[in-house]
Amino acid sequence: EKPLIGFIGLGNMGNHMARNLVSKGYPVLVYDVNTAAVDGLKQAGAKTASNPAEIAANTDRIVTMLPASKHVQEVYTGNNGIFSKVVKGTIMLDSSTIDPAVSQDMAKVAEGKGAFYLDAPVSGGVNAAKQALLTFMVGGPDSKFPEAQEILQNMGKNVVHCGAVGTGQAAKICNNMLLGISMIGTSETMNLGIKLGLDPKMLAKILNMSSGRCWSSDTYNPCPGVFENVPSSNNYDGGFGTALMTKDLGLANNAAKDTNSAVSLGQRAFEIYTKMTEKGYGGKDFSVIFKILEEMSGP
Ligand code: NAD
Repeated sequence: EKPLIGFIGLGNMGNHMARNLVSKGYPVLVYDVNTAAVDGLKQAGAKTASNPAEIAANTDRIVTMLPASKHVQEVYTGNNGIFSKVVKGTIMLDSSTIDPAVSQDMAKVAEGKGAFYLDAPVSGGVNAAKQALLTFMVGGPDSKFPEAQEILQNMGKNVVHCGAVGTGQAAKICNNMLLGISMIGTSETMNLGIKLGLDPKMLAKILNMSSGRCWSSDTYNPCPGVFENVPSSNNYDGGFGTALMTKDLGLANNAAKDTNSAVSLGQRAFEIYTKMTEKGYGGKDFSVIFKILEEMSGP
């Protein structure tokens, strides 16, 4: 019989990840502050808890998928947080994208309680989460990686051990800086080509068989109608929120400052996404940059 897994954070990503654990036959105990999200998982066959402490008291395997550093701090160290009831030997896998220093802090607290916290952020987007095709970037001790892999492989196809705790976040932050830049570049390119009279689907086809090809052009094209089943063809709803991309670019820019790394496009991408969030696009998918460029460009 498969062991019970606790899962906290059932949003755009976590809800699919938890469902995949259920569908692979794991008993799953879930929590989210959003009761509608909890109800959805209950209907899918999960058991429900009323706070993170209740999950910690009942299982020694926990996955978290929360928006940002402050939510992770709250869920782990807050009142009725995981650490208030964590059982010795528990493995905690945090798949949220957060500041690597916060991951390291959490790992230290866990160690003091005889438990293990690993960072395990993901890449792939909502469709990859749905289809269990995510890439996990894991930071933590060698000795705990096999156990982490056994859990994570049910939700993804690649589980990579990056090094000590925090290195998963470092890899993820680098990836998302490139993603933010490539999404803006793809949007500028699609907008320009359409203005030059090219059909959007044909332009995307050319890019995707040429040297400009990237994930933003061939999997998640920001121009509505080029692909079905991506946020751009669904009014930019669902997907990866602009506010979350802004957070990740902020983390990348802080890391660049700390390490004296030149990131002129990374900084520009951060400015662009910050402005979009301020203008009220925070809840829309980050590919909405295409629509904004289109509006900025005029007829
Ligand atoms: P989301 O905002 O859709 O979901 C977050 C969930 O956490 C929500 O259901 C929210 O109610 C819950 N939550 C917040 N505070 C909580 C608390 N204190 N206790 C319990 N639950 C709480 O975010 P998402 O898109 O699922 O992303 C989650 C993380 O994964 C983020 O760090 C994001 O950067 C990262 N990520 C997202 C994508 C994507 O495509 N959406 C891809 C890769 C990585």
